[in-house]
Amino acid sequence: MSKISDRLNRLSYSQTFVMSNKVREMKASGVDVISLTLGEPDFDVPQKIKQAAFDAINENYSHYSPVPGFLELRQAVADKLKRDNNLDYKPTQICVSNGAKQSIINVLAAIVNDGDEVILPAPYWVSYDEMVKLVGGTSVFIETSIDTDFKITAAQLEQAITPKTKALLYSSPCNPSGSFYTGEELEAIANVIAKYPDITIISDEIYEFINYDGEHVSIASFPQVYEQTAVINGMSKAFAMTGWRIGYSACPDWLAKACDKVQGQMTSGANTVAQRASITALKMDPQELQYMISEFHKRRDLVYGLMKEIKGFKCNLPKSAFYIFPDISYYLGKTLNGTEIKDADDFAMFLLENAHVGCVGGVSFGSPECIRFSYAASEEELTEAMTRIKNFLDQF
Ligand code: PMP
Ligand code: GLU
Repeated sequence: MSKISDRLNRLSYSQTFVMSNKVREMKASGVDVISLTLGEPDFDVPQKIKQAAFDAINENYSHYSPVPGFLELRQAVADKLKRDNNLDYKPTQICVSNGAKQSIINVLAAIVNDGDEVILPAPYWVSYDEMVKLVGGTSVFIETSIDTDFKITAAQLEQAITPKTKALLYSSPCNPSGSFYTGEELEAIANVIAKYPDITIISDEIYEFINYDGEHVSIASFPQVYEQTAVINGMSKAFAMTGWRIGYSACPDWLAKACDKVQGQMTSGANTVAQRASITALKMDPQELQYMISEFHKRRDLVYGLMKEIKGFKCNLPKSAFYIFPDISYYLGKTLNGTEIKDADDFAMFLLENAHVGCVGGVSFGSPECIRFSYAASEEELTEAMTRIKNFLDQF
């Protein structure tokens, strides 16, 4: 009998961390590997945010904060949601957590009963399905492909809904595909969900600012679903604060209270120094972050151009976030250098071991024919990585 619970045994390790750890081990043993595995900005935290953290330490912000976060921070989140998304929230509707990751599981833990269904448009972020399992739910996947820019339609959504559906969970901008839903597309989705008042939309908008080709729209801005939507966002991506672990949710009152209840038993709230610094961050003019977005934009163009030259890679121009998600079905079922490539994870491992470039296979994103590269890396690294892959794959 396993000492580990059945519930945990059903879970997989996060593939993003599995691959980044593998790269770390290879580097430690002296192999020159380029890692395009983990999605995290390679920029430093802007100086004024760091200063706010120093000040918070000196001002002795060393005790527990209220469970859902300092009131001043929740007000700053509400102001940001009004400023950038035209959304009206009271601070009592905001819950600040240890990263957006916790914000998502707070909401799932608050609403999912055993056997409830959560709809996940595929590809989805690796942790969604595992979180659904952890809270006893069942994921229902909606398939997409590169031909539809990895986006679902309202008709597909309608078909996936059953009496057990509790939530729809997706990210736009999307990790891993780099696509985002336009206002029109979101409105069509909102119109479907509005017909089912017991369904909650969990809208993960953590890549909101990293958007090159259009305007970010939050589905909560459609009044017909405002009361049914949990907006998820955080500091990790836009402010390069991944290690500071601050995320937040904005929810209808009943759900905000429930998140507070979950969090009060799980973590007691987020780190106080990082919370104080986040107030300064959220008050910054988004224009001050433009240098990072412009840099990602340049890299997107670079990596897309180079990737189009790689044999057997089919890719769409990603319009947001910092991932590119080529379809590599050309290689599936082939045996390369004695290695059988059954799915994209085999192919990702094959590239790592042979071309010494780390990426993440698409199986745990729900797309076993694609692989994900994070291009939050320097232009030199990206050029070298694509050259290595091209040269290596040209032989097959
Ligand atoms: N959602 C998506 C789509 C992500 O890519 C990530 C990765 N960091 C998260 C949520 C979690 O972010 P964090 O916990 O660092 O705020
Ligand atoms: N969200 C990032 C990624 O997808 C960081 C790792 C993680 O949280 O899974 O790579």
